[in-house]
This record gives sequence, structure tokens and C-alpha cells, in this order.
Amino acid sequence: MIVNSPCRQKEPFDLFLEDFRIRSNHAYRVRADIDQLSTRRGMPPFVMREVMSGNPLSVNIPEEFGGRGGHVHEILALLSVASYESLALSLTLGINSALFLQPLAKYGSEEAKKRVFDRFMTAQNMGGLMITEPGHGSDALNMQTSFSSSGDLYNIKGTKHWAGLTGWADFWLLTAREQMKNGDLKRDIDFFVCDVNQDGQQIVVEEFFDNLGLYQIPYGRNRINVEVPHLYRLQPQSTGIKLLLDLLHRSRYQFPGMAHGFIQRMMDEALTHTRERSVSGKRLLEYDQVQHRLVGLQSSFTIASAMCANSSSKAGIENDLSANGLEANAIKSYVTDLMQDAAQSLVQMVGAKAYRLSHIGGRGITDSRPFQIFEGSNDMLYSQISDAIVKQMKQFKESNLFDYLNTNSLTSKATGYLKELLDFKLNFELPQRKMVELGQTISRIISMEMVIDLGEKGFRNDLIDNTISTLKKEISSLIGHLNFTDQANIVEDYQENSNWFSLAGL
Ligand SMILES: Cc1cc2nc3c(=O)[nH]c(=O)nc-3n(C[C@H](O)[C@H](O)[C@H](O)COP(=O)(O)OP(=O)(O)OC[C@H]3O[C@@H](n4cnc5c(N)ncnc54)[C@H](O)[C@@H]3O)c2cc1C
Repeated sequence: MIVNSPCRQKEPFDLFLEDFRIRSNHAYRVRADIDQLSTRRGMPPFVMREVMSGNPLSVNIPEEFGGRGGHVHEILALLSVASYESLALSLTLGINSALFLQPLAKYGSEEAKKRVFDRFMTAQNMGGLMITEPGHGSDALNMQTSFSSSGDLYNIKGTKHWAGLTGWADFWLLTAREQMKNGDLKRDIDFFVCDVNQDGQQIVVEEFFDNLGLYQIPYGRNRINVEVPHLYRLQPQSTGIKLLLDLLHRSRYQFPGMAHGFIQRMMDEALTHTRERSVSGKRLLEYDQVQHRLVGLQSSFTIASAMCANSSSKAGIENDLSANGLEANAIKSYVTDLMQDAAQSLVQMVGAKAYRLSHIGGRGITDSRPFQIFEGSNDMLYSQISDAIVKQMKQFKESNLFDYLNTNSLTSKATGYLKELLDFKLNFELPQRKMVELGQTISRIISMEMVIDLGEKGFRNDLIDNTISTLKKEISSLIGHLNFTDQANIVEDYQENSNWFSLAGL
């Protein structure tokens, strides 16, 4: 029997986590069949009620407001347990945690915190973040949503789309730029807590989207014209843009929590299937290429584990992460690529049976795909990683990649395995496509460092050794790409003389 218990502040974390595991397992596998549930949009109320009844989001709430104190290792462990059952459930918790509760705990007024945290603790409320606009996604700093002050209220107006939990969340963190007297918008961004249950704060959902995956999470386009009290504006320590960076980097540090459980599930499903399925008289597990894929999944699991251990000690709200772009971007971009690869690999090993929405692998492909797009598109993040590296190398007047990485605290242990690969002079004028490849390379080296650290903490040696070997192979291949001079240019008017049919000579 599952008992509702909102106040679980003092409960040992392993009991709290086990309770959450039992509740989500019961909701998704006993009361409902997740494979069937996931072919329909939305989350049945009884599933959400059961999953949320143990108050999982209390992990994010400070102790003085009755929560468990916002310890990052607890949050990551919770996200992982959730994503083993359902990536959509984990993202729902992740949105509430990193995009709403943590920024509120760090930058909110006491009044706003008291009111909002109380609603989370007692009434299982939800919160999300609206940044993206139809005309401004990757270039969010140019957003057109504006605010102006009148009396003790801010009037916020604009259009936002693709915010996770559209039409569902009780609270929104709205982002906007201040409108000046001449009508222009200031450069800085501000954040406001909007409570859709209050008069004057309702957000109109103009359209719900037919999102390709993550069926349980609603997305759509929102029209904003709300009035929010002054005390519900977040207080940045310096600028709003620094607040935004601190928030986004902290969120990127926590992606490994969602990735860990998801990849573990892909791995467990793959192991079970390849043990049980026999093809041409041989168990799939006995084929070398299948083993190669399984080793890949185990390496991804080990990398996600290493990233979780790393983030646990760095991503607390007491730390200012606004300057940690290099590490945060490396973690987010690489671990989300690993999530997508894991789902693709499982589907390959299972075959046609997995090419269904009702199969965890098939669904895994569409559910994990947007992780490579939201909160910083991976192409952009990889190229930003390289921008940061090139900038630092120029500052230190160091052009040899090995010599530079050997002194960087994020990579100095990993370089020991990579000397012969990295010992070359880096061209500081690389085109963007090469900057992306360099960024991919650096992200793998930073991850290798985390894997070495995890090994030193006592994680099992065979997984660590395999993962270092897998990473070394990947880094070697990426360096090969980087050193290959790619002279292919886009042919925009490609239609002329490009019809094979007229050239077939028949
Ligand atoms: C499932 C899902 C959930 C989301 N959740 C939220 C949410 O909760 N809150 C929220 O505010 N938003 C959310 N978003 C929106 C998301 O953050 C944006 O989609 C993302 O920022 C990209 O913006 P865009 O889609 O407008 O693409 P664009 O900005 O038009 O970019 C499209 C593509 O162009 C390429 N590109 C862009 N800039 C560059 C560059 N400088 N160099 C090289 N290539 C580039 C990249 O490949 C990029 O993917 C979500 C989106 C999805 C799909």
C-alpha cells in the first residue's frame, strides 16, 4: 500500500529514493502499462498523483521551507530513477528542478519562495521556464517579450513557445526585456515568477503542438499579457544575463541525471534481448558486433555515471556557474549525443520489434532526440567549447593542443592517455565545421577525465578500462576528422546538371 507523506525532510535518502522507485514502478507498470500509455498524449491524472505523492520535488526545496535542501547528488539520483521508467517523467522533474525551483531558491524574494515552495510541498504544484519565442530560439538574447513597471506590478507581454509543461504548470518563470520610454528594449534579460492561479496572471495557450516524442509532456504556443507583483521578479547578483548563464549551466550539469537512468534502461533492455534472442542458431549476445554495441552502451553508462559524480560536487546553487560554460557545455552536448546513440543502438539490436512507439527503444529515439536541441543546440555548444579553448590558448600564448590540455584542470589526467594524438599545433582560424569537431573532441577528453576520477573513487575497474579504451578510439577518430582538410562547399543551385536519369544513357 502506498501512503501519501508530504513531510519527508529527515528521512534517509536511500529510503526516500526507494519509495519513489516503488511509486513510479507501481504507477507505470501495475496501475498502467507504460508501453501503451506512451502511445497517447498527456499523463493520466492517477499516474501523476501516484508518482508525485511521495513529494519527489521536495529534494529541490531548501530545508527552511520544509524540503530536503537541494543536494545535487539527491536530485541526480532521483532524475535517474525516473528516467529508467520514463524519460518524459524525468524531464518533467528536471524542468521543475533546474528551470524553476533552483533559480527561485537562489534568486527569489523571501515572499515568493515562501508562497511557491509551500504550494510545491503541500499541493504538488509544478513550474516551468519560458525563454524561447517563435522568432528567437538559439538567439534567445534578442527575445521580444517585454516588461514595464506600473505601480507595484510589472506588465509582461509577448509570445513564447515550446516551454515544457505548457498549459499544465501552475507557475512559470517568464523571461523578458525591459521596455524603455522610447519603446526600445534594454539588452539585459529579467525573470519573473508568474502564478497562473492568480488574477491577471493567466497565460493563454493559443495552440498545442504535436510534439514528435515525449508524448506525456505538453508543448505549445503561449500568449503572455500578465501583471506580476514586484516581489516576484528574481534578483540577479549582477546582470540578468549572468543569472541566465548560471541557470542554464547548472541545468546542463544536471543532464547526466536524466541520461544515466535512460542509458541504463537501454543497456538492460539490450542485455536481456540479446541473451534471449537466437538468430541462425546462435544467441545474439555471442556475435562480435553485438558485443561491440553492448560495450558501447556500457561505456555510455559509465560516462554518465562519471558525469553525475562530477556534477554532484559542483552544481549546487551556492556556486556561481555563469563562467563554467566549457565544462557545462561539454557535459550537456556529449551526454545527450550518448542518449540518442544508446536508443539507436538498442533499436538496431532488437530489430523490427523495436520500430514501434510502444517499444521503449523506438520511443527512446524520439524521446531523447530533442535533448540534442533544447537548452543549447549541440552544434552550437560544440562550437562554443572550441571558442573557449582557442581563446584561452591565445591568452596563454600556447598553440600546442597537448601542452595546453595538459595544464587544464578539466583535462590534465586524461592527456596522459592521449599524448601522441594531441601533440600538434592547433590552427586558430578553423572554420565552424572544424570548430564543431574540435568541440566534440574536447568534450570527450573532459569526459575521460571524469571517468578517470570515478575510477579513482572505486568504480569497478573493468567498466572504467573499457570506457577509457572506447573514448580513446573515439578521440582518435575525431582527431582524424579534424586533421582532414574538408573542401566540400554547399551548392545552393544544385538542380542544374544533377539529374542521374538524363545521364544513365538508356
Ligand atoms: C522538446 C523540446 C522542449 C523544449 N523545452 C523548452 C522549455 O522548457 N523552455 C523554453 O524556453 N524552450 C524550450 N524548448 C525550445 C528550445 O530551447 C529551442 O528549440 C532551442 O533553443 C533552439 O531554438 P529554435 O528551435 O528556434 O532553433 P533555431 O534557433 O532556429 O536553430 C535551429 C538550428 O540551427 C542551428 N544553429 C543555430 N544557431 C547556430 C549557430 N550559431 N551555429 C551553427 N548552427 C546554428 C542548430 O543546428 C539549431 O538546432 C524546447 C524545445 C523542444 C524541441
